[in-house]
Amino acid sequence: MREPFYLVDFDGVVCDSRAECMVTGYAAYRELKGEPFEPAFTVDDVPADAAEAFIRFRYLARTAREFMVIWDLIEAGSAIDPDLPLDRQWEIDAARIMRYHELFYATRYRWMERDERSWVAIHALFPGMKEWLVARLAEGRAHLVSSKDSRSILTILRNNGVELPDDLVSGNEGGDKPGHFRRLIEEHPGRELYFIDDNLENLEMAAAQGIAGCLCTWGYTWEGGIEAAKRQGFPTLGLDGLAQLA
Ligand SMILES: [Mg+2]
Repeated sequence: MREPFYLVDFDGVVCDSRAECMVTGYAAYRELKGEPFEPAFTVDDVPADAAEAFIRFRYLARTAREFMVIWDLIEAGSAIDPDLPLDRQWEIDAARIMRYHELFYATRYRWMERDERSWVAIHALFPGMKEWLVARLAEGRAHLVSSKDSRSILTILRNNGVELPDDLVSGNEGGDKPGHFRRLIEEHPGRELYFIDDNLENLEMAAAQGIAGCLCTWGYTWEGGIEAAKRQGFPTLGLDGLAQLA
């Protein structure tokens, strides 16, 4: 069997960034609402019940801008449906969500530039993923594909002792995942591409382009998502099975 070339999602696969997304996203949301709010950039910025709800339902958002919808639902006191896409739970104003996107990234970069150490420290790499990624990169068999910005990915990895050239990261500044896949298929003719993600919709989208993949159950997912992936025939993998991806 040919050795696969791995296309690897970042958030929820390599890195647990939920706390950072919560703190950054909450500060951006307060600004969106025009409220005076000066973040200390710690988890204590977010009221405990809102924090718990955000962490629990983080998986419903596929991009940072969609965090706005989670905050809207939380602030409205709406019961969040764990199985329903966010755009079917809340009417999304296109201009407002773009404004939130801008505020989110401005807030993130403000934090990174003010105190990169605390910004990096709030992220955690999933156990064993650093070693797995370093081994695959050394073999020339991994490429990161993410809806996160490449600058953040490279900063987190560099501060965890992983140096990689920026052309091995396809982040959101270069387009979306479907576009990255189309390009990567062209760039790697004859190779067997294999996609690792924690989001079923992304796996479906990759499959539509002929790229096989598996759902990481250690990432941002929930029972319903894992069951749905199994029903559709996607392999599911826990951290204890990581060695299978050699
Ligand atoms: Mg993910």
